[in-house]
Parts: sequence; C-alpha cells; structure tokens
Amino acid sequence: MPNQIVTQRDAIRYTAGRVAVTAAITALVTMIFLISDLGTDWSATVQVGAVVKASMMVALGVSTTLSGAMAYRSAQLMRQLTSTRAELVRMSRTDLLTGLLNRRGFDDAAAAQLAQANFAGQPVVAMMCDIDRFKAINDLYGHTVGDRVLAEIGGILRDFAAPRGMLIARHGGEEFAGLMVGVSDQEARDYALELCRRCATEVACDGREVAVTMSFGLASYDGGGLSALMRRADLALYRAKDLGRNCVVQLDNGDTPTAVLSAPSGGMREAEIAGDHRLVAGNL
Ligand code: GH3
Ligand code: MG
Ligand code: MG
Repeated sequence: MPNQIVTQRDAIRYTAGRVAVTAAITALVTMIFLISDLGTDWSATVQVGAVVKASMMVALGVSTTLSGAMAYRSAQLMRQLTSTRAELVRMSRTDLLTGLLNRRGFDDAAAAQLAQANFAGQPVVAMMCDIDRFKAINDLYGHTVGDRVLAEIGGILRDFAAPRGMLIARHGGEEFAGLMVGVSDQEARDYALELCRRCATEVACDGREVAVTMSFGLASYDGGGLSALMRRADLALYRAKDLGRNCVVQLDNGDTPTAVLSAPSGGMREAEIAGDHRLVAGNL
C-alpha cells in the first residue's frame, strides 16, 4: 500500500512488486491470447503475419489497459496529495481552539490585504486586543474554563468580523489581532467600541458566569509596513491596559486628534496622554 511506504527501500520494494505483477499479467494475457488465436500445436507452421498481428494486438491491449490503470491510480494519488497539502496549509494557519486564523495565517493574509489596499489607495486600520486579567480567570476557574472563554471570545470576534470583511485572528495566548481595509478611523473606532461592548460580557461555563472584558488598541496605516503597523496597534493596546482596561485606544502620529474611547456605558471624557498621541476614554 502506498501509505505504508516510508523509506527509500519501501519505495524500491513497492516498485519491484508492481513491475513483477505487470510482467506476470502481460505474460499470462499474451499466452492466453496467442494460444486462443494460433492454437496449442507447438510444432505447427504459422504465418509470420498472423503472429505479428496477434502480438501487436496483445501488446496494444495490455499496454493501454495497464498504463491506463496506473495513470488513473497516479492521478488519484496526486489528487489526494493536493487536497492533503491544502488541508495541511489550512491547519498550519488555523488556531485549533477558536477556529480563527493563527498568527502565521494572519501575517500572510494581512500582508496580502495590505498590499492590495496600498495598490487601491484604501485606508487600513490594525487592531490588537487582549482579554483583561485572563490569568486571574485561569487561576480562579481553571484552564478548561479559560479555554472556553477564549473560544467564546473568538466566536464573538468572528461573528462581528465576518459580515464586515474584517480580518481577525488569534495572535497568541489571549491576544487577538484584526485588520480593517477601506475603513475610516471613525468607523474603526465604532467597530472596536462595539466589540469592546460585546466582549464585556459574562461567559457561561459549566453553570458558572465568568465576567470577561477586553482592551483594544487601534492604529492607522501610515506607510511603514505591516509589522510597524501591528507594533503601533500593540502600543495602543498597552495604553488601553494602562488606562484601566475594558476600553479602546487609537493612536495616530498625525496632528489630528485621534483616538478615543470608551467603556461599555457612560459618557466620554478626553485626555491627552503623551506627545503626539491623544486619547479619549470614558467611564474608566
Ligand atoms: P492583562 O489584563 O494585563 O492582559 O493581564 P492578563 O492576566 O490577561 O495577562 P498575563 O500575560 O499576565 O496572562 C495571560 C495568561 O493567559 C497566562 C497564560 O497562562 C494564559 N493563557 C495563554 N494562552 C492560553 C490558552 O490557550 N488557554 C488558557 N486557558 N490560558 C492561556
Ligand atoms: Mg490579557
Ligand atoms: Mg496578553
């Protein structure tokens, strides 16, 4: 069986076996056909033309049948190989727990989307978000509940991102990343704010209600490449953590006041945090 071929020796043994089977089939079919066509009298005189014609018909029949069967088998194996390879690529880019893209998948997809957006002159906003005090959730309720929280948050992010064409991924641990193309800063803020509200929820795990919140960092693309963009979104996320968590912070290096944001309820307040970064936060 091809799936038991592991070493070079296995491959040679498999090939030799196939050659032997093919030779045996060819010899048997040739003998049967020639005997039925020319008879079993070994000392009989036959015309050369009859022998040549019979041999050619056998050769043609055997070779086309066997090579056709082998080619079909190879094609089937190649088809399986192609779909297995595609599945492996998909798995290597997918996070098992949440079903979202993993970091590798995100980096590939985000780089492609960024290049496309650049070409089309569309704005791009990156988002980094992280579950607040997740270690305490693990410590308090156990790792299994922690995993359930991760899966639940992954589902909330996916359900929000899918209809809006937003790229979303589990970037590692309890951190998620997103990329929004063709979305203004204001729209990105609204999206992140809505996500912040949706994620500030109680996740039901085995009859227990686990309170979960997330912090969000946003950064608009300024031509510095994907890793620089994600670094700035990460910086914004750190600011959100510094500000007390459960909020959204947007950074912009331009003069325009950027940033913002919020908490699930209550009014907004504005505060300038450092240098060229402005922040508006609410109810923190
Ligand atoms: P902060 O609000 O500052 O982000 O605090 P935090 O507790 O969320 O952050 P910290 O980095 O201290 O802890 C993250 C924890 O996430 C520690 C790690 O064990 C846990 N974690 C990472 N990956 C997984 C996972 O796949 N499953 C579970 N259950 N826990 C995970
Ligand atoms: Mg965290
Ligand atoms: Mg973290």
